[in-house]
Order: sequence, then C-alpha cells, then structure tokens
Amino acid sequence: MKNGTPTDLVIAPEVEAIVEDRSLLSSPRPTVDRERLQHHLREVLKLLHVKMDDENIVDTPRRWAESLVTMTSGYDYTDVKKLTTLFRKACSTTDEQCQNLVVIGGTYKTLCAHHILPFFGHFIVGYIPERMIIGASKIPRIVEVHMRRLQSQEHLAHDVADTIEQILEPRGIAVWMGGVHMCMVMRGVEQESSFMETNVLRGEFREDEKTRDEFMSIVNRRGQRG
Ligand SMILES: [Zn+2]
Repeated sequence: MKNGTPTDLVIAPEVEAIVEDRSLLSSPRPTVDRERLQHHLREVLKLLHVKMDDENIVDTPRRWAESLVTMTSGYDYTDVKKLTTLFRKACSTTDEQCQNLVVIGGTYKTLCAHHILPFFGHFIVGYIPERMIIGASKIPRIVEVHMRRLQSQEHLAHDVADTIEQILEPRGIAVWMGGVHMCMVMRGVEQESSFMETNVLRGEFREDEKTRDEFMSIVNRRGQRG
C-alpha cells in the first residue's frame, strides 16, 4: 500500500500505467477536412432553398461544421482503456458479503444515427465488481466518448456496457437510459412527451433476481424524481 492511500482504494500495480487521456475528446481534430465539410453543408442549405445571404445564415455552414466535428469526436477515441483509472475493490472476491453494487448516474446528450437530431436524458450504470472498481468520474467519461458519435439509445447503452465489461470484467453490468428524442418530438409522430427507456442487464443482473431488483429500485427512484 502506498503512503496516504486509503486501504480500500489501493491502486493496483498492474494498472498504474493506465492514465487518463482526454486529449482526443478536446482536440481540434485536424484530420477532419473542415473546408470540404463546410462546402457540402452550404450545398445542403442551398438545396433546401435557404437564402444564403441572410446575415443569420452567412456563417452557418462554418458553425454547423464545427458543431458536427465536436459531436462526432468520439469516433477518434479508439483506446477506451486510456479513459480510466482502476482501483482494487474493497474486499476479496472470496468474501460472500462482498456483493457491493456500484451505481453511478448522470446525463447524456447525443445525435440520433437515423435523423442526425438530438436525443438526451439520464443514465444509470450499475456493476458488481470482480477484482477492480473504476474511478467514479470515469463512467460519465465512457458515456461521453460513446455519446459523441451518431447513436441509437439502445446502441449507446450497449456500447457503454461493452466498454465497462472490457475494462473491468465485472460480475454483472446494468445500464439504464431514459431520454427524449427530438426526431420523435419535431417530426414523424410529433409526440412532445415521448420518453424512451432502454435497459441492458448482463451477468448477475440477469441471473440474480435480488441484484436486478436492487438496481431497478434505484432506477425507479430516479424515475420518480423526474
Ligand atoms: Zn431519429
């Protein structure tokens, strides 16, 4: 154990080399050809009969391009392990009492892959650690990488579950997401109250009713708060 490190949060020597790297998410993405992107976005607006000399529109292709570049920056992030700091979990895997469910929640916002319109909402991630736990702020970071790609809510939830499984190999992983989809609100059925829920349950969350119920009661409490 290192000096000053709490006993239940000892940094495992084998993962000490893994350092957080946000550089790609905040990078200017020089590999994206902005000039060409702006040109094509300008053409899209023209095809829609938008008057390009309007003072509100003149600079729109550039702004539109920049926001798309930002909102798709998750595609640059291929090494998800660099996102994380891992810790040994508090008790040994042989300890029967050690079924500690770790739950972390937050918000997400992304673009739907079908209509390139936003959808956004809340997520709750739960996992039962096997050997390792993950720094609390890192789950939202994993969500961030995946939400900065074109997504469906179901794919987003599965992508987050896949990444956490890949990094932690937990006994079980559960990802709940609930969101409002602008493609449903602004077009098609135009349902302003349309709220969609996705639930991914794997490992002990699938096999053990008690664990699943524990997670779902947390989700339901969250739901009641709105
Ligand atoms: Zn859509």
